[in-house]
Amino acid sequence: MALKKEEVVRKVRDAGVVGGGGAGFPTHVKISAEADFVIANGAECEPILRTDQYLMVEKNSEILRGLEIVRDISSAQTGFVALKSKYKKAVELFRKNRKPGIEVFELDSFYPAGDEQVLVCEVTGRVVPEAGIPIDVGVIVDNVGTLINVCEAVEKRKSVTRKYVTVTGEVEKPIVVKCAIGAKIADVVALAKPKLENYAIISGGPMMGEIVSGDDVITKTTGALIVLPLDSNPVERRLMKDTVAKRRAKSICDQCMDCTLVCPRNLIGHRIYPHKIMRMNFFETNELNEITSGSFLCVSCGLCEIACPQGLSPRSVFKLVKENLISKGLKNILTEPKPTTHPVRDLRKFPAERVVQRLGIRKYDVPAQFYQREFIPDKVKIPFLQHVGVPSQPVVKVGDEVKAGQLIAKIPDGKIGANMHSSIDGTVVNIDEKFVYIE
Ligand code: SF4
Ligand code: SF4
Repeated sequence: MALKKEEVVRKVRDAGVVGGGGAGFPTHVKISAEADFVIANGAECEPILRTDQYLMVEKNSEILRGLEIVRDISSAQTGFVALKSKYKKAVELFRKNRKPGIEVFELDSFYPAGDEQVLVCEVTGRVVPEAGIPIDVGVIVDNVGTLINVCEAVEKRKSVTRKYVTVTGEVEKPIVVKCAIGAKIADVVALAKPKLENYAIISGGPMMGEIVSGDDVITKTTGALIVLPLDSNPVERRLMKDTVAKRRAKSICDQCMDCTLVCPRNLIGHRIYPHKIMRMNFFETNELNEITSGSFLCVSCGLCEIACPQGLSPRSVFKLVKENLISKGLKNILTEPKPTTHPVRDLRKFPAERVVQRLGIRKYDVPAQFYQREFIPDKVKIPFLQHVGVPSQPVVKVGDEVKAGQLIAKIPDGKIGANMHSSIDGTVVNIDEKFVYIE
């Protein structure tokens, strides 16, 4: 029997499903739209991550069912599973298990194949407007992990209390582990047995992730924890202050344009020119114009840094420029509704293998074993804000006994946000501005 749209949206909202690929956009809002196509994003384009590859094999049918649900309620013609050809086992399973109305789209191994706008262009040939989102061209994109949560919310009314996370890098045993949301990052990293005494942890991928503390916690958007030496390329890049990156850029950028030639947003026709922002940087120009406004179109993928022969960071300069424009109350002026892709875009795709080589992390590009036991600690600390929108509001108080899966914080009325649920059975021992603590 066909599912009613309102019922699906309500169940997904109740379950607190948000985009699991990193952005954390509330899924019930995204799937409320009408679309022509729905894409399950299985590109997993950040190097050395293994979470989505694991899920696409082990949770293949849940992904397909989640995709069918979203396709049907959004009245889309087709649902696509988009994944790299090199994920052979997953490609084979999707081809074998898919039903009519679901297509498998194989991607080349390039970075950033999983960027939503790049993916929409690859799969449908449509180009998202400048400063737009995929639904502007009739497309919904959901990460494969998100679709598993949609399937479980709709079929089993299961709320989001677990996250699959890759733990890799300088560790004895790279793993993919299913862990409770709110678990301490240091405890999850310890499962993979770090080989170093002093190290940094990057949450997310080596290209776009952030350095986190072991005291931080697993959230609905944590996809990977990467243990790296303090002098490794991805860590040194992050530890360099943006202001230092800006000064270096001023002294050594030779305007070779390599950064612009590979910029994935430039290649889909958006007016973003990393080499020009570097030139403008020479003159400390801070006004709003077509070059500085490109900072609002930058997705921070970091490919310009990887391509730069001088090791400079146009991404950091864009970030500083954007902060400066926002602080003055200025907004983006680049809003071309129908950009045209660059004629040689296909030839300029940056091989994923070369990203690994330039980051100097080839030795970590290894398989990860599934950690057989769910990691459920005795205490968790669950953030009210793990998503795009406003923080959720507590519906429990200190001293309450809660069960795993029970609602502990809800979306404020009329706002965009996500419900939160306890990930363990226990007692609420504290509530502060940011977290609910359960033991
Ligand atoms: S690639 Fe590097 S040196 Fe070349 S223009 Fe861009 S920032 Fe400057
Ligand atoms: S980080 Fe660099 S390559 Fe990526 S979108 Fe921004 S300017 Fe383009």
